[in-house]
Amino acid sequence: MQELSAESRADFERGLTLAYEAGSGVLASGGNAVDAVCAAVEQLENHPLFNAGHGAALTADGRAELDSSVMDGATGLAGAIAASKHAKNPVFLARSVMQRSAHLLLVDPSADLVASWDLETVSPDYFVTGARLEQLARIRALEVPAARHGTVGAVARDSRGSIAAATSTGGMANQHEGRVGDSPIIGAGTYARDGLAAVSCTGEGEAFIRGVVAYDIAARMRYLGSGLGEAVTTTVETELTAKGASGGLVAVDSDGRVVVAHNSPTMFAAFANENGIVMLT
Ligand code: ASP
Repeated sequence: MQELSAESRADFERGLTLAYEAGSGVLASGGNAVDAVCAAVEQLENHPLFNAGHGAALTADGRAELDSSVMDGATGLAGAIAASKHAKNPVFLARSVMQRSAHLLLVDPSADLVASWDLETVSPDYFVTGARLEQLARIRALEVPAARHGTVGAVARDSRGSIAAATSTGGMANQHEGRVGDSPIIGAGTYARDGLAAVSCTGEGEAFIRGVVAYDIAARMRYLGSGLGEAVTTTVETELTAKGASGGLVAVDSDGRVVVAHNSPTMFAAFANENGIVMLT
């Protein structure tokens, strides 16, 4: 695997810091967990380095098709979008599906719908960066599936003890047009339920869907009485590692315990413990 230069590591750390500060700012001012995870993800969607929103991984034909989901552990409600092309921030669109419609998952939502919910619309070109076009060209020339992940996600617990999760992605670079991964699938890439855990995943989406990974963690806690750490370890081993799939996740339980786990070589994350912000890069 290619080592990150100190300079790009610092760029990723800046992006993570912005996301962490946006999310924790919402919580510090008494906001709820749903708004906190959306604020954190918004920063990563706006940042060109991360695989979501502006700078998302591209489909084989060089376009961005964005997937996102949000789940509110307090109410059990969720919203999601797949193959989105018009909302500047897919995570806000997913939240609006949850809060403003009777549905859970919308595919290729129209620009008119986005605007009617007072969300910012952009041209589909806004999402496409030179770096992602180069990545696509490299993958297509070499036909290698390597280093294609980078979905973004956030989990949070608010002052009321409620938890939420949000996930946003361009999917796998060079994916077939119309392919949808785990990120907008509740239970696979995203799950939250008060009293159990909020989970947001990244990695080979097909394996996360087959293993119903985010819900598998919550189910281990619910039915087996496992703690979050044990549930995550077992799910990653049985549903990913044992099946030759790679990826990772961030999770928080109702007591505010945070777990970051991955079987991929690296995964970036930021969270706080009693000593301050911890940055994993
Ligand atoms: N999980 C995403 C997907 O399969 C990809 C990623 O995490 O990078 O669409």
